[in-house]
Amino acid sequence: MNRNEELTKLHQLKEFDIIIIGGGATGLGCAVDAASRGFRALLLEKNDFSKGTSSRSTKLVHGGVRYLAQGNIHLVREALLERGRLLHNAPHICHTMSFVVPAYKWWQKWYYGFGLWLYELLSGKLSLGKTRLLSKQKALADLPDLSGNNLTGGVLYFDGQFDDSRLAVNLAQTAIELGAVVLNYICVTGFIKDGNLVTGVKTKDELTGEECLVKAKVIVNATGVFADTLLQMAEGHSEQTIAPSQGIHLVVDEHFFKGDTGMMIPKTDDGRVLFAIPWHNKLVLGTTDTPVEYIIPEPKPLPEEIDFIIRHFNRYTTANIGYKDVKSVFAGLRPLAKIGSENKTAELPRDHVIKVLPSGLVHVTGGKWTTYRSMGEKTIDKAIQSAGLNYSQSKTRDLKIHGWQECASDTHFSVYGTDTEEIKKLIKADASLSEKIHPAHPYTKAEIKWFIENEMAMTVEDILARRLRLLFLDAHAAIEAAPAVAEMLAASASTSEDWKRQQIEEFNKLASGYLLKT
Ligand SMILES: Cc1cc2nc3c(=O)[nH]c(=O)nc-3n(C[C@H](O)[C@H](O)[C@H](O)COP(=O)(O)OP(=O)(O)OC[C@H]3O[C@@H](n4cnc5c(N)ncnc54)[C@H](O)[C@@H]3O)c2cc1C
Repeated sequence: MNRNEELTKLHQLKEFDIIIIGGGATGLGCAVDAASRGFRALLLEKNDFSKGTSSRSTKLVHGGVRYLAQGNIHLVREALLERGRLLHNAPHICHTMSFVVPAYKWWQKWYYGFGLWLYELLSGKLSLGKTRLLSKQKALADLPDLSGNNLTGGVLYFDGQFDDSRLAVNLAQTAIELGAVVLNYICVTGFIKDGNLVTGVKTKDELTGEECLVKAKVIVNATGVFADTLLQMAEGHSEQTIAPSQGIHLVVDEHFFKGDTGMMIPKTDDGRVLFAIPWHNKLVLGTTDTPVEYIIPEPKPLPEEIDFIIRHFNRYTTANIGYKDVKSVFAGLRPLAKIGSENKTAELPRDHVIKVLPSGLVHVTGGKWTTYRSMGEKTIDKAIQSAGLNYSQSKTRDLKIHGWQECASDTHFSVYGTDTEEIKKLIKADASLSEKIHPAHPYTKAEIKWFIENEMAMTVEDILARRLRLLFLDAHAAIEAAPAVAEMLAASASTSEDWKRQQIEEFNKLASGYLLKT
């Protein structure tokens, strides 16, 4: 995947069947789907792939236990089906994980046990394992750091876990392999119109400033929480359709909660669920659900959200973590569909919305990472219908995602799937590339070279936040690794010392927002 090659294709073609705006889970799902049907598809992302909400999820491929409690059986059933498909289609990035729900009252084991048995039942043939009731001893054997006071046992159930940004990169690669043109750092700044109808987009290259006009038979707005800006440009109306809800996560060392099993706290003080999940040898704690007014690329965790997570984790465990133990904190905004004047976002529906607007723009928002594929399929169905394109069926249900590999190794290389061999070849050709970019983490210079040459990584942030997940796992280490990464980027593009210095400065400024001030 090479940006210059994609730019060349864009300038040669200039006219597409479908343009998709937004390179998060939703847009990438649409691009893969459209390309799988043989359409000439173009995806434009103004930043890096998954820079928005799609790099900031809880990393669960799940049906949503909470939605089951809300009685939303249809949503859970669809997501469980998609969970099964994703685990089959991208086994190098998605895997099964066991979770324990601790019970501290005698009835809880039976109550949660029934709900999670139903959850498993709904997944049918795509079940990931049997839900089981656990004795207190067995719950403590699985999760030794669980608080034993008044513990009556627990419930064991299974769900999926993944690396969101790595999946985003692999989806971009898959779309390109199927014939789509896919570009990061291209912003859609306006629409070309024929009367009221949108017939193309005006774009600006965020790296060079170059502007361009591109035409299409139909355009999809998959810009998540930013959707209203695009709606304003296409439709001219100022009505707000998105109700952003902030969710934050804290990342701590895995020794605070040993074992390969995650924990789901079934009822927090605000009546939600909270997870503690092993991820890339750290522990991710979250999330929250806070209605916010702002829609910005780098949302800021609120002190009350941080305290909320620490308080709940400490209540259920013997860990006793504090601010000093947090390696990274990250926040994301859920693009929830606004309904009336409702401001309790926890109660807003999590289902997706797809509609064709009077300008012909196809608008898709909401949903979950887990259901990105079915959202893509339904959106492209709608786009075909609205633009009168020749119908052909989506081929994504069993489509193997780039890197597909069933038996991935258990080293950190496993997320690269079939690309692992290519990265190892780089080390064979040049042993200096086996050098690590940070002494406390396994990532090598060979991976950085791979990202620059094959994964459209343009900045230090692209590499440390989304190709590797170091910023999300250990923000201090990411700051320390930034100069080595900037050096490699600068060498590959023969850029100036100033560019390198600016990259490091910009990254440090960004990363300081992922650190907690103690
Ligand atoms: C805290 C939290 C936890 C979550 N946990 C989970 C989970 O565990 N499992 C799960 O399945 N789901 C989870 N979700 C939901 C999931 O992450 C989102 O539904 C999904 O990432 C939304 O993707 P998107 O593509 O719609 O939006 P985004 O990822 O925000 O993508 C929109 C993109 O559009 C781009 N864009 C905006 N304007 C323009 C423009 N003018 N030109 C070009 N590009 C533009 C943006 O830069 C952005 O990259 C979670 C969400 C949150 C907030």
